[in-house]
Amino acid sequence: EGGSEEDTIHFFSPSTHTDLDERLAIEAQLRRALERKEFRVEYQPKVSIRDGRIVGFEALLRWSNPVLGEVSPVRFIPIAERTGLIIAIGAWVLEETCRQMGSWAAATGAPVKVAVNLSPRQFHQKDLLPSIRDCIARWGVAAGSLELEITETALVSREQEVDVLMRGIRALGVELSIDDFGTGYSSLAYLKRFPVQRLKVDRAFIRDLGQDDDSAAIVHSVISLARNLKLLVVAEGVETEEQLSMLREMQCDEFQGYLFSRPIAADRVLEMLEANKSL
Ligand code: C2E
Ligand code: CA
Ligand code: CA
Ligand code: CA
Repeated sequence: EGGSEEDTIHFFSPSTHTDLDERLAIEAQLRRALERKEFRVEYQPKVSIRDGRIVGFEALLRWSNPVLGEVSPVRFIPIAERTGLIIAIGAWVLEETCRQMGSWAAATGAPVKVAVNLSPRQFHQKDLLPSIRDCIARWGVAAGSLELEITETALVSREQEVDVLMRGIRALGVELSIDDFGTGYSSLAYLKRFPVQRLKVDRAFIRDLGQDDDSAAIVHSVISLARNLKLLVVAEGVETEEQLSMLREMQCDEFQGYLFSRPIAADRVLEMLEANKSL
């Protein structure tokens, strides 16, 4: 789960038959996964570092295939992206998440905040804005309870277009965050220019907190930068008390990670919120 694959840069990646076979098998199965209803969404809590309360969830796609078994998104999302299947799959994730959000809000009487990942290709797709607008309207989701996570790589090219898109999303009332912050090539200049509310510091930096002074320095400066720009900072992949206490000292706002909870099934979200309330 969330293996080290995504954190590793393979400079020399020999395309063995096995690699290729696996990719082709994934692609073939992926083409029919939607119609066969093989996807589901899990939700990982996002927690306030100050008081330990759940402030929202991140929607994470899961795929269980009869031939391949449980396939990690780290493996199939890049293939979905390359083949264009991500457009239909991404639309399904948004629809399914909004449906769940609608039912949670109806059950609790208050909106539950959820962040959905948008892949670069999906972000640049033509009818993104109307499809988001229709989806939240269809399920009666409060726009401000939906957040979209976009990686830096989606932002580096076509700056003008990105700017217009982001302002369109904000005009709907939906929030924006930059995912995997620190792993892209982008300059910090765009942070000032784009209307985002949150930065998510990549797990790679959090993992090395406490072991590596450079990572601590990077996380520290990202947090102070964000503070100056009035952005919230979320640390991803927090696994130890030591990492959490360092983040607290650095005045990081929110965290996600196995230390608090792994992603959970949709039908456990309300009970987790209920348990958290009585803190
Ligand atoms: P991400 O958006 O950076 O999501 C965070 C990943 O870190 C998730 O992996 C999550 O399960 C994992 N994680 C959370 N806490 C911890 C921790 O304490 N330790 C460790 N080792 N891992 C932790 P997951 O669910 O396997 O997803 C991997 C990536 O796949 C995501 O990275 C995201 O880029 C992509 N992905 C997942 N769902 C979607 C989706 O619906 N749409 C798109 N476009 N991409 C998605
Ligand atoms: Ca994410
Ligand atoms: Ca991330
Ligand atoms: Ca990541």
